[in-house]
Amino acid sequence: MELANRVRQVTPSMTLEISAKAKAMRAAGIDVCSFSAGEPDFDTPAHIKEAAKQALDSGKTRYGPAAGEPALRTAIAHKLQRDNNLSYEAGNIIVTNGGKHSLYSLMMVAINPGDEVIIPSPYWVSYPEMIKLAGGNPVIIPTTAEAGYKITPAQLQAAITKNTKLFILNSPSNPTGTVYTPDELDALAQVILSTDIYVVSDEIYEKILYDGAKHLSIGAISPEMFERTIISNGFAKAYAMTGWRVGYLAGSNELIQSMTTLQSQSTSNVCTFAQYGAIAALDQPQGCVEAMRRAFEERRSYILPRVNNIPGLSAAKPNGAFYLYVDIESVGLPSLEFCSTLLDEKHVAAIPGIAFGKESTVRISYATDLDTIQRGMDRLEAFVQSRL
Ligand SMILES: *Cc1c(COP(=O)(O)O)cnc(C)c1O
Repeated sequence: MELANRVRQVTPSMTLEISAKAKAMRAAGIDVCSFSAGEPDFDTPAHIKEAAKQALDSGKTRYGPAAGEPALRTAIAHKLQRDNNLSYEAGNIIVTNGGKHSLYSLMMVAINPGDEVIIPSPYWVSYPEMIKLAGGNPVIIPTTAEAGYKITPAQLQAAITKNTKLFILNSPSNPTGTVYTPDELDALAQVILSTDIYVVSDEIYEKILYDGAKHLSIGAISPEMFERTIISNGFAKAYAMTGWRVGYLAGSNELIQSMTTLQSQSTSNVCTFAQYGAIAALDQPQGCVEAMRRAFEERRSYILPRVNNIPGLSAAKPNGAFYLYVDIESVGLPSLEFCSTLLDEKHVAAIPGIAFGKESTVRISYATDLDTIQRGMDRLEAFVQSRL
């Protein structure tokens, strides 16, 4: 069969591919140390699972409203007020099949052919592909390690054209762990407000922060900025609920209504009983979030000096998320070759920087146990030594 043009220009997710190869090697009995995971290694907290089990037992097994269970939309609106100082009604919220799907649906309803979406690189692998699927043009703005992988107001200003519709901001960032400060967000907000573009704020890592870094949603900067902000978030990273597929988007009534129409004709509602787990995640005590954050922090304290003590590698200290973004320039291998050779020879999985739009870098996820991190670092060290 001749396939649609739309899918030909889309590259499959390299992160999912490498994770799959590492899993297959492990299934074949090979001892793989994986730094490729884009998900917490923890099990979903028991009280969240319990809430979903209770929902199943009480018959929450049927179709629900396309925009999500009313109780969950209300709980999300409360959360956005409580945590982020953003005043949304339940009607401003749509529950989606993960944060990825909230962004995908957004592109489908917001982007016309020829519309431009500004993305700072290194970027999350799915942003450019979603925009292309929607017929839009991703406009990639490279950032540097020296600038902390942050886009500057001048760079943003220079990238805006009459076709620009959206700017995607991801703080804390996957893959770099970068967190924008309030002043930096304020400066970007000034640029946005001097134009008529909107910002999509992907806040999925807002709970995973270190060294006293605080999360500020760009939408909380001013009432004017609130009107120009679209929030994407989800339960996957903060609550170790990646497989549940529950995320959400907050925006204007008009936007939410059109996304609801799209969802009603494509996926219908998100798994009904999974949404009850999400309600428990938001409404019950948040100790589990802090316990996981502390575990990530402990691992970061170990892995960061290990990487920086390997001659030829360097990584900045990330203030959020659970990734190290490592410069491999001195090793002299393209990132894809670096990662495939590392996996074949040393059985260590990491993601090539090219997947995030930047050569000569790799992403190392420390969302794995300390023993794996120690053994994997020994192997990485031996690998780099053998190449220098
Ligand atoms: C993981 C992730 C998401 C969304 O993940 P879901 O599992 O779909 O909720 C969105 N943005 C970034 C940057 C991520 O890393």
